[in-house]
Amino acid sequence: MKKHNFSAGPCILPSEVLQEAANSVLNFDNLDLSLIEISHRSKNVVAVMDEAVALVKELLGVPEGYSVIFVQGGASLQFVMTPFNLMKAEGGKAAYLNTGTWSSKALKEAKRLGNAIEVASSKDKNFNYIPKGFEIPSDVDYFHTTSNNTIFGTQIKDFPKAEGLNVCDMSSDIFSRQINVADFDMIYAGAQKNMGPAGATVVIVKDEILGKTGRDIPAYLDYQIHIDKESMFNTPPVFSVYVSMLTLRWLKGIGGVAEMEKINQAKADLLYNEIDRNSKFYGTAEKEDRSNMNACFLAHEGVDTALFDEMWKAAGISGINGHRSVGGYRASMYNALPLESVQALVDVMQEFEKK
Ligand SMILES: *Cc1c(COP(=O)(O)O)cnc(C)c1O
Repeated sequence: MKKHNFSAGPCILPSEVLQEAANSVLNFDNLDLSLIEISHRSKNVVAVMDEAVALVKELLGVPEGYSVIFVQGGASLQFVMTPFNLMKAEGGKAAYLNTGTWSSKALKEAKRLGNAIEVASSKDKNFNYIPKGFEIPSDVDYFHTTSNNTIFGTQIKDFPKAEGLNVCDMSSDIFSRQINVADFDMIYAGAQKNMGPAGATVVIVKDEILGKTGRDIPAYLDYQIHIDKESMFNTPPVFSVYVSMLTLRWLKGIGGVAEMEKINQAKADLLYNEIDRNSKFYGTAEKEDRSNMNACFLAHEGVDTALFDEMWKAAGISGINGHRSVGGYRASMYNALPLESVQALVDVMQEFEKK
């Protein structure tokens, strides 16, 4: 039987998606060729890219005036591409909300190109909350947030909005809950947390914001080039885009993001209720900022965690060790993780408490 996969990333994917991907690696579209050994410009692969883009637009309700592209380099390259494309060459300024490891890294890259400032940070409490009520300077080229903090298990519920451009790294909760794309000028997400295998990154960008920095942008880093070439400027990560497309088809099949959000809420409620009830454990994130994707929890002092570790492993659970910067446990409940897997973890927590 397959493990209950709580991996923080790369993530669990629906088993029917994995099966179809496996078939296509051997024989794609009955071409008697593998998906990964044919030209990315062949009509079958172009159709995959077109469908992936169309599904992103449909599932998120992307309005007119935005482009959707797939690029390589992960979310980490977006930390670099964002300031290259949006920060003015002369006197460029950007504001970052620092809610964890990934926003810290994004900020660090932006500082190489201009005056990137941290408007607020939750570092004082090891990033266990989302700062609120801070001021965003009105003269910045853009404001950058991270919707879900994969490592520390916090999630922005009400997005702060800047007067200027709003940019969001949604790597670990895109397609997990409804968002209003029109509230953002740019959204990016690495595929491997909630959409597909590593290799592709989706970028949703408002067309009118591009080409205004006066910067000489290296070709690969220029969003406009990827838009003009329809994500085929160079060889795209075909396998990653294909599996992402299959996952988005699956998501559409179960009723889209609205339905997914309900399922994710049920999973998160089930686990957090147990964390709060169980006398052996406690959650690390502030309750109002808890992530529905990554639940971080610790065992109380003196609890025999070696026994707990043995028990969850014996129950077929995988991937709940916490990140080294938090310790304890982190259960990641991405879209494809079934409610039954969360129930299996809750059952082990209850059995453990009784021992
Ligand atoms: C994992 C993660 C990243 C880094 O993604 P890469 O694709 O490995 O560069 C960035 N931001 C968030 C929120 C993440 O969860």
